[in-house]
Amino acid sequence: METEKVRLLIIGSGPAGYTAAIYASRANLNPVLYAGLQPGSQLTTTTEVENFPGYPQGVDGNQLMEDLRQQAERFGADLRQGVATQADLSERPFKITIDGSKVIEAETLIIATGAAAKYLGLEDEKKYAGMGVSACATCDGFFYRKKTVAVVGGGDTACEEATYLAGLAAKVYLIVRKPFLRASKIMQERVMNHPKIEVLFEHNAEGLFGENGVEGVHLVHRRGEADERHYDLPIDGFFLAIGHKPSSDIFKDYVETDAAGYIVTEGSSPRTNVPGVFAAGDVADPHYRQAITAAGSGCKAAIEAERFLLNAASNG
Ligand code: NDP
Repeated sequence: METEKVRLLIIGSGPAGYTAAIYASRANLNPVLYAGLQPGSQLTTTTEVENFPGYPQGVDGNQLMEDLRQQAERFGADLRQGVATQADLSERPFKITIDGSKVIEAETLIIATGAAAKYLGLEDEKKYAGMGVSACATCDGFFYRKKTVAVVGGGDTACEEATYLAGLAAKVYLIVRKPFLRASKIMQERVMNHPKIEVLFEHNAEGLFGENGVEGVHLVHRRGEADERHYDLPIDGFFLAIGHKPSSDIFKDYVETDAAGYIVTEGSSPRTNVPGVFAAGDVADPHYRQAITAAGSGCKAAIEAERFLLNAASNG
């Protein structure tokens, strides 16, 4: 198999990956970045990004990623298409297989592969993507001011998103498949006591309807029971909050991950348990998951990689 040696390999093309590439290329590390399955990351699936500092009028998610990409390219980062399909981090140089056909031998590695929101798997979620379906209340909630929305899920994320949306929308339905919430007590209380939130226990969403965007959801109450009941609920926005899955699978045999698959880093640094391997952005962040926090951690990862290479050079 074709082999190539690099000083720094970055995997992922979200704000973390591109920011790492900007810093690393300015530090003359000649980084090579592989964009992964979804070049430009989750941000290319949202419309307007209004909370990234530096864009007072907001910016289209695709444009923001294109700006970051060009900024990385300007300083000579080698940006490539390709997906990391296998990893051997047992010794340096680390060996990362790209598209199953090429091996990159990297002295240092930044994992910035992100996380993907989970969806229910309904055809209508794809049909109405960007037209009323969202998996990020902080990103898209603003568009539902004084409107009616539904949030699916019964965990902390769902309760947090419902509470956030209730500050903007006229009415929030929380669609929970079980007869109880899984969220922490304090979040449960916040949701149950909020005048604008109505919790629909033992409900499942089966589809969406609407002419030019979401106008309602097909619901089923007590699915599979003798008193199963189907009905339609008018809504303007449908938010998924049933969890995220970090894209860490190929690294799990080497880097420490938590029960949900997030890569564990040392304190607030991007250092993993494998010296020379750093993790930045959503793949290592179960808490904030924002473009700006991802960019910040990408910056830290590049600085750490530079220091690591300097130390390795002076020790070796
Ligand atoms: P969780 O896994 O805790 O909850 C997921 C929720 O989605 C559950 O209610 C689950 O239902 C429901 N769900 C999953 N799949 C489906 C489906 N197919 N149809 C309908 N409902 C579904 O994920 P979260 O993202 O909420 O939280 C992840 C972790 O992050 C947790 O540890 C949480 O405590 C933590 N967190 C903490 C926060 C905080 O402290 N402020 C904020 C956000 C998250 P069921 O219960 O039936 O399985």
